Amino acid sequence: MPRTKICSNCNKRILQKEVCKCKKAWNKTVSNEKNQQYADEKKFFNSIRWKKLRWGILDRDEGVCMRCLIKFNLIKTSTLEAHHIKSRKNYPELRWDESNLVTLCKSCNTELGTNDKLDFAFEPKEIEYEYHL
Ligand SMILES: [Zn+2]
Ligand SMILES: [Zn+2]
Repeated sequence: MPRTKICSNCNKRILQKEVCKCKKAWNKTVSNEKNQQYADEKKFFNSIRWKKLRWGILDRDEGVCMRCLIKFNLIKTSTLEAHHIKSRKNYPELRWDESNLVTLCKSCNTELGTNDKLDFAFEPKEIEYEYHL
């Protein structure tokens, strides 16, 4: 008699070496969602609107990493990105909000990740939109 086990998800008895059908279906849903997310991200970052906003943010912050400047008193002008303070994932409605964006260098961006908050005091200036758009 072949060795069997109980699926931890649906409690059905299945073959030892088998992956239960319920998990296969679940994995498929997860990977479809991931692909969709990836496609949405790509579309977002490639959009003209984002490119303009990103330039606006970098210009507003005078082309320096705000975290390096405020937290470490360093002027860092390379590998800059516009970082979403409240992450796009948790606050999709704030992704176009310039007060939710800050200029960070790559390493600060990576360190903050999707914390949904900054670890330094930052007061964004107004963007002069008519100039940028
Ligand atoms: Zn199962
Ligand atoms: Zn930095």
